[in-house]
Amino acid sequence: MARTLKIIKSSVHTALNTIGDRWSQLIIQEAFRGATRYEEFRARTNAPRNTLSNRLRGLVAHGIFEQRAHREGAARQSYHLTPLGLDLFDSVLIAWCWGIRWDATTPNGPAGLVHTGCGKSMLPMMVCAHCGGDISLHACRHHPGPGAGFEEAEVPRLHRRRQSGAEDAPRPPADVADMTGDRWTGLIISTQYFGVHRFDDIQSMLNIATNILTDRLRSLVAGGVFERRLYEMSPPRYEYWLTKKGKDLYPHALSLMLWADKWLLGDEQPPVIVTHIPCGHPVEAKVVCSECREPLTVENVNERRTREKKSTAA
Ligand SMILES: [Zn+2]
Ligand SMILES: [Zn+2]
Repeated sequence: MARTLKIIKSSVHTALNTIGDRWSQLIIQEAFRGATRYEEFRARTNAPRNTLSNRLRGLVAHGIFEQRAHREGAARQSYHLTPLGLDLFDSVLIAWCWGIRWDATTPNGPAGLVHTGCGKSMLPMMVCAHCGGDISLHACRHHPGPGAGFEEAEVPRLHRRRQSGAEDAPRPPADVADMTGDRWTGLIISTQYFGVHRFDDIQSMLNIATNILTDRLRSLVAGGVFERRLYEMSPPRYEYWLTKKGKDLYPHALSLMLWADKWLLGDEQPPVIVTHIPCGHPVEAKVVCSECREPLTVENVNERRTREKKSTAA
């Protein structure tokens, strides 16, 4: 069951409608780590069989994967990223970077990354293709684009997290895929980019049920993505603000937006234009190595299998 909402048009939603939920995102990440066969995806993601089959079908239908027979005459298929899928590498790198930096890596996700170009352990970082400056929430300005407006969005009415009562301990989000894979969580985070911080305002902006909003806010606070700020004493009322960790999700949202604007707009115009404040250009982002600032590609990024001990020495 799903309910339809009227929300501000956003290419991030378009991207997530195409990519899919947390399972699909984990499957895409594993494809970048070399998985091509059903059983490989299954072993690496622990997805139930029905779920995995369903998500693989969806990824093929949306043009992110293509199927190939992996042996002549054999019924078995393998799954490969198409050019559309391969172009998600920036967003996958940024999701891994966030996980490594904030100790929130996907189960079995990369513990660290190495740029083979310079040979160093590094974190991927997003920079402006025009001026090379860092891209962050505060370095970017959003304007309504020629395609701005509202769209209908479908949000599943039932959700995996709903079994627990509101009084149960909140479950903090595990990783980036956990947040973007849950449409409500993604929408709640996006209200921050519009300067909406109070419960009632978030609720009316999204037309979201109180118990769902309460549940997701508790989870985001428990995960250190939002912080509460008291703005009224009696009764105590709070505003919700992105923490540093929360703001650090912004390049990921931007990478999805840019990907959707590049591939999925069709005849439509972009709903939002983002400019990089330091240089004034519309944002064209690239993801580079934090150590040498050379662009990262599927070919020049390797995983470090073991977690690096945080050094206290300078
Ligand atoms: Zn710039
Ligand atoms: Zn490097």
